[in-house]
Amino acid sequence: MNEASKIADEHFRDELGNVDKKGKRLWIFPKKPKGQFYNYRTWFSWFLMVLMFSGPFLKFEGKPLLLLNVLERKFIVFGMVFWPQDLNLFAILMLSFVLFIVLFTVLFGRVWCGWACPQTIFMEMLFRKIEYFIDGDYIQQKKLANQDWNTEKITKRAIKHILFWILSFVIANTFLGYIIGIDQLKLLVTDGLFAHVGKLTSLLIFTTVFYFVFAHLRELVCIFICPYGRLQGLMLDKNSMVVAYDFVRGEPRGKMKKEEVNTHGDCIDCKLCVNVCPTGIDIRNGTQLECINCTACIDACDEVMLKIEKPKGLIRFASLNNITEGKKLGLNLRNGAYTVVLMGLLSVFFYMLITRKQIETTLLRTPGMLFQKQADGKISNLYSIEFVNKTFDELPIELKLIEPKGEIKLIDGEKVIVHKESIGKTSFFLVRDAKEITKIATPVVIEVSSNGKLIETMKSSFNGPVTQGE
Ligand code: SF4
Ligand code: SF4
Repeated sequence: MNEASKIADEHFRDELGNVDKKGKRLWIFPKKPKGQFYNYRTWFSWFLMVLMFSGPFLKFEGKPLLLLNVLERKFIVFGMVFWPQDLNLFAILMLSFVLFIVLFTVLFGRVWCGWACPQTIFMEMLFRKIEYFIDGDYIQQKKLANQDWNTEKITKRAIKHILFWILSFVIANTFLGYIIGIDQLKLLVTDGLFAHVGKLTSLLIFTTVFYFVFAHLRELVCIFICPYGRLQGLMLDKNSMVVAYDFVRGEPRGKMKKEEVNTHGDCIDCKLCVNVCPTGIDIRNGTQLECINCTACIDACDEVMLKIEKPKGLIRFASLNNITEGKKLGLNLRNGAYTVVLMGLLSVFFYMLITRKQIETTLLRTPGMLFQKQADGKISNLYSIEFVNKTFDELPIELKLIEPKGEIKLIDGEKVIVHKESIGKTSFFLVRDAKEITKIATPVVIEVSSNGKLIETMKSSFNGPVTQGE
């Protein structure tokens, strides 16, 4: 029996569980989940939340463990500063990340969404729990939503939305902590809110966005907004492991009656799997874009199977080929190719990371100028030199002319000092005796050092009038 005949009615593909026939949003009231997978998910979520909320406070050698300052285009990961000049590293890392996600999704479906995505973790483990605590389980929630506004409804709604707002404010602070750093964030409190109007505005915008997402948008983020969710159809295949209903075992579904001999499959059509679903779908219809692999339906069905004394796993992690042909999850040519490319990209990334320079230098002869004739008859060329100091120390820079014969004259004083974690620029003249110049363009080699340690050997050229035969 093929899948099409098992799942005869495909009308669900034309509808959404959270939209009615007129296109109006239907609010989803999922039943409170419980069970083994939910327990695992809760522990894992707490672990991730502790990591996430403590992240901005964690330091490594006095620096943030993770800083993603997109405003100043400065990123710190495990004490290493990354600048826009590290774009090549960033590009390879992003490519590897995208490929990793594709590979992971091809193998394990949307597990990330249900188990590790911050949207799901905050929604299911914080906001939803507050809702269950205040409004009760799904039946009480529906009742409350449908009843007229009275003292009970107004009080419950007010408390819930105030708590949602406070929680959104905490999450917004955490996210801002990752962007501007915890020390800058503390200044908002110590200097008074209005001393940093820009940061305060960002904080309030973040808070409003988070509140709107968790109080109102909810599953719409996973179904319509998240690009990763929208790409599922491209990445999944018949070998991908997803939360799946075993229609071979479950169909034809039907109620169990004590006095009758059971001629049905194992699904007793209790609809508990539908009631617990936070995206409002019926997993028995097959893999759907809306499924975030949260496993709530597995727990619900396992509980039913235990009660009717059938084996657990009517809904379980399985691929379509596993259900229809009993095939185990394994590597195929496509997955193997993804893995090889991913390993290759990661190798390049780590090589570039290890050999990455802490100080980068760019030397340019000032464009638009050929050469200058000095008062004493010497010839000079003007150069500009830029340093990116990725270290946490202030660096004195020394320039030493290796070739040709001549002298370096700094324009901005005697010394070049590049401040920590910053970009420094200076200009200098390279002065040569006119009689030494034998070529229109003479190669120039300059050693850049700091504290006696060679940083880089730079190359350029010197332009001048030829006074002797070439
Ligand atoms: S919970 Fe299990 S038995 Fe109940 S309707 Fe869903 S699949 Fe069928
Ligand atoms: S179908 Fe199951 S796993 Fe998928 S979102 Fe609904 S409850 Fe979660």
